[in-house]
Amino acid sequence: MSDARYSPMLEQYFSMKARYPDAILLSRVGDFYEAYGEDATTIAAALQIALTSKEAGGGGRVAMAGVPHHALDKYLAELVAQQRIVALADQLEIPVPNKLVRRDVTRVVTPGTLIEEHLLDRGSNNYLAALTLAGDAIGIAYADISTGRAAATAYSGDGGLEETLSELVRLGPAEIVADLPPAIRDAISAQLPAVRVTAPPLAIVERHEPTVIDGFSLDESLAMRRCLDALGAFVRRVGFTAPAGLLRDPEFYRARTFVALDANTRKHLDLTKSQGANPKATLLATIDRCKTAMGSRLLSRWILAPLVDRAEIAARADRVETLVGDYPSRAALQELLGGAFDLERIAQKVRFRRAAPRDLGSLRRTLALLDPLRAALPPALAAYAARIGDHAELRAELEATLNDDLPATLADGGVIRPDASPDVRECVELRGNARERIAALEERERQRTGIKGLKVKYASAFGYAIEVSKSNLALVPSDYVRKQTLANGERYVIPELKELEIAISSAQSRQLRLEEALYANLVEAVAERVDALLAAADALAELDVACALAQVAGERGYVRPRFVAASTIDVSDGRHPVIEVLAGDAFVPNDLHLAEGAGRFVLLTGPNMGGKSTYLRQTALLVILAQIGAFVPARAMELGVVERIFTRIGAGDDLASGQSTFFVEMAEASNILRRCTRRSLLLIDEVGRGTGTIDGLAIAQSICEYLLGLEAQAPMTLFATHFHELTALAEHRPLVANFHVTAVENTRAGAPVFSHRVLPGSTSRSFGIEVAKMAGLPAGVIARAREIASVLGERPALDEQVPLRARLAAPDGREETQLPLGFP
Ligand code: ADP
Ligand code: MG
Repeated sequence: MSDARYSPMLEQYFSMKARYPDAILLSRVGDFYEAYGEDATTIAAALQIALTSKEAGGGGRVAMAGVPHHALDKYLAELVAQQRIVALADQLEIPVPNKLVRRDVTRVVTPGTLIEEHLLDRGSNNYLAALTLAGDAIGIAYADISTGRAAATAYSGDGGLEETLSELVRLGPAEIVADLPPAIRDAISAQLPAVRVTAPPLAIVERHEPTVIDGFSLDESLAMRRCLDALGAFVRRVGFTAPAGLLRDPEFYRARTFVALDANTRKHLDLTKSQGANPKATLLATIDRCKTAMGSRLLSRWILAPLVDRAEIAARADRVETLVGDYPSRAALQELLGGAFDLERIAQKVRFRRAAPRDLGSLRRTLALLDPLRAALPPALAAYAARIGDHAELRAELEATLNDDLPATLADGGVIRPDASPDVRECVELRGNARERIAALEERERQRTGIKGLKVKYASAFGYAIEVSKSNLALVPSDYVRKQTLANGERYVIPELKELEIAISSAQSRQLRLEEALYANLVEAVAERVDALLAAADALAELDVACALAQVAGERGYVRPRFVAASTIDVSDGRHPVIEVLAGDAFVPNDLHLAEGAGRFVLLTGPNMGGKSTYLRQTALLVILAQIGAFVPARAMELGVVERIFTRIGAGDDLASGQSTFFVEMAEASNILRRCTRRSLLLIDEVGRGTGTIDGLAIAQSICEYLLGLEAQAPMTLFATHFHELTALAEHRPLVANFHVTAVENTRAGAPVFSHRVLPGSTSRSFGIEVAKMAGLPAGVIARAREIASVLGERPALDEQVPLRARLAAPDGREETQLPLGFP
């Protein structure tokens, strides 16, 4: 891009831009961050700011737009929200007139590499993910750059890609770095359409001596290592450096240590993000009583990765139980946790040497809480004391070095306590003395000139000056040098005042240099202890989550679920954790019994709006709560560990996806049938609704038969359907138990009253027309629907349905009705 007709400054700009072609380049020029050329046009439109132009050298002009440096954060937030990448170039030296300032890109802001609190959601992790292939393995690694947390896993062989995609969707990364064939990249983009997928900045070079990671094959180990390398390269590329490693030691894990939740399940259950109208109606939001951002993030990770190991589940639930039973300890811990700052993100900023004074101030306040926290631990949680650790030394260093009140930036001065350094103290004293001498000078000049209103003032344009009002100008002595004329007076200087001013400003700049050096030392001292701080952060997060789960359990009457060896689920008076809160006392609890043999397959019928979908979702949420180690909203619950949860929720709920809903439905069903295991929980809601009645019923029945045919290997299934015909399956298939949700007809209003109670047996009443009436369909349409229903109500065999059309002559005598066919 470098072009002879550009001025040196623009040439500098475009040569930096050439190195970051994907980014918008904002370059610091004085008090502004400016963009030129195409980037100027882009940001002017994106940020709704003025587009101007600038002399480009050689008589041409180039487009220009800029934002004031103090408002950069606000504009950055806006650009990031628009999924844009921004490169920030800073001045690397103090500007001197008539010389081009050295500038370079110091930071590239991308969606997956944010560390700034105001650009991040406090309660969720922001992941950068990397994917690559090695031999027959596909590796995936991811890191939250703001917390340093990193992990990797790998899959090989059949279904590896599917598993990888599913894991990727679970993580919901903000950005992906992938070194993959186009077909796989396309598959990723199809799953996560809004997420940027970029090639890694460097070719990922094979290591010479690959080491096998415990529990993984050589290819898998290689793939994971390469992904981690790609993450590291990307993080350096965006401008972060850390002398002792950019991230925490990665955790290598196998997906099977968690309950497999496929993408649909995570979506349909509104676990951490809501698909519905109410963004707060998620499982996470309902139970997140965490006091710290670290706790909220941990809880969010737990919800998306419930455990399968009974001992681990029990260890978590033990902690919750302790705190449910010990209100004073819980209250004391929560009170203290409420004062803690985000230790994890602060530690990571320290690692990158990007911690601002107030970050260290927050660290100081958090460390001050740790001793009382350790003291507040009930005996059963005493092990946390060691994990929190002793940070007295660091805390003392912070307290001795940092001032009580801290400025926003180091450049503002006043970060270091004068007691911490004789040199800083000297500067502070020099400035203090000079100010006192200025005050004395003011008093002396008043006496000497006899001007009572004489004042020494500081003006940013030229420093200290003596101000005299118009009426007193006659009294001004001859040694005053006039500097500026004001509306009602004049400003003067005298040599002595200038000397004092120089004394102040040189003391000030010396102090700033001293403070910079001392602050850098302090950051190094914290950096040396980053690992210990992160260990404390982890401990705090776990305690916070345990307290939050105990609080929810106490407030809402949750109970501890009991685990058994068999693959069963038994719930008495279970409630839907989210709807229960919205509905209050109106929520109707229900039992559930899924056995190993008879009754493993619950076929649920009942009218629209009866509560079938709610019952299905509630079951999955109870299992998830139980397996993250939480208490559950029920009178009692007993279950065997569930390894996979699959959901197929009715067509029509997926309209946004753009694919044919029936196709999506069948693709989901096929995924379920191929991947379910004996220890899976299947929620199948209204399968077959997306196509014609005959095909729909045929497919629904055949899916049931397939699952029932698995016999001893059959998963636990809740099958909600409007195809009443399916209830006949129970006659020949011992696994099937028919249940229904009830409603009674309110004869006077003609509207059904739903009891939302799930009871044994089946029902054929759909109340579809009554619901349509409640929804306000015109009376004429309702009346006609009743007429059609009464004809169809003779319940012919399925293959007789088509000829039935002929009998549905419209009332005005036309041959055929335009009303769609379909069972009421
Ligand atoms: P269906 O799937 O049978 O059409 P839904 O599960 O969608 O019914 O529930 C319909 C409405 O009834 C929803 O607004 C839901 O909040 C409410 N509902 C469902 N189950 C219960 C319950 N057990 N207690 C109270 N309200 C419920
Ligand atoms: Mg439903």
